Amino acid sequence: MLQLTSDECPRTNGMPMLGLGTWQNEDPEQCAESVRTALETGYRHIDTAHLYGNEEAVGEGLAQADVPREDVFLATKLWYDDLSYEDALASTEERLDVLGVDYLDMLYIHWPVDTYDPEETFLALEELHERGLIERVGISNFEPEDMETAAEVCDVPIFANQVECHPFLPQEEVRAKAKELDMEVVAYSPLARGAVFESETLTEIAEANDASAAQVSLAWLLEKGVTPIPKATSSAHIEDNWGALALDLSDEEIARIDAIEAVDRKVDPDFAPWN
Ligand code: NAP
Repeated sequence: MLQLTSDECPRTNGMPMLGLGTWQNEDPEQCAESVRTALETGYRHIDTAHLYGNEEAVGEGLAQADVPREDVFLATKLWYDDLSYEDALASTEERLDVLGVDYLDMLYIHWPVDTYDPEETFLALEELHERGLIERVGISNFEPEDMETAAEVCDVPIFANQVECHPFLPQEEVRAKAKELDMEVVAYSPLARGAVFESETLTEIAEANDASAAQVSLAWLLEKGVTPIPKATSSAHIEDNWGALALDLSDEEIARIDAIEAVDRKVDPDFAPWN
């Protein structure tokens, strides 16, 4: 197994460009173990959310790993019913308490729906930033026009928009808007929740590189300047995904993936802003 240290993970504006996702890693012991394993493998970016119900276990994994808190980029998200001014403040304090940390590297608005109100919600996030409880403001599942509104309303620069992104949902418009607004793009479901393993193009490129289709999808995202946060539970998957950092796809391979026309959105609730 190829050894890559945490220093070999590229960063963009201070954010490590490969993170660990934790949605549906629900068993507390397993979740803590996955987080600890990831940190000991070299990951320095962990993604969770109030919704996932595993923040306590994520905090436990962070505490167990032999890695200082300040070396880890920790992000969580406020659920959509907590986005009024008062609730956003109270829920963030609760997130810190449950995670067992003093600050977050990034706090995302999980979805711009329900109690989301740009003026009120960002006022709370500005205040949390001012108090040093959150280092960066993030948004998630924002469409290009919502990104513009957020950038206009929030006095703290919006650091990143976290959206579903993989070869079957390349998110060209979101990526272009992010570039224009100087925001990062964080890719959720970067393995298309497993669909990458069914793709002929990805599996052929994987075979040619003695790599996995997961690594090919992650390397393709990294080449686009996007930060993927694959969810992995076992050490085998956690290490396999980390190996994507060593995979250099050729221009021709990138072009073959760019040419995939199939569109497949995996996370598509009725309340999503695009529905
Ligand atoms: P994903 O990362 O695309 O895929 C995860 C699935 O792939 C799991 O079943 C995992 O299995 C498997 N897997 C991982 N690495 C593998 C490997 N190397 N070989 C074979 N199988 C592998 O899907 P996701 O969980 O939807 O997205 C990733 C993260 O993004 C989430 O965990 C969450 O943190 C975030 N997210 C955010 C939003 C949002 O609204 N902001 C929405 C969805 C997801 P094992 O678990 O068994 O390893």
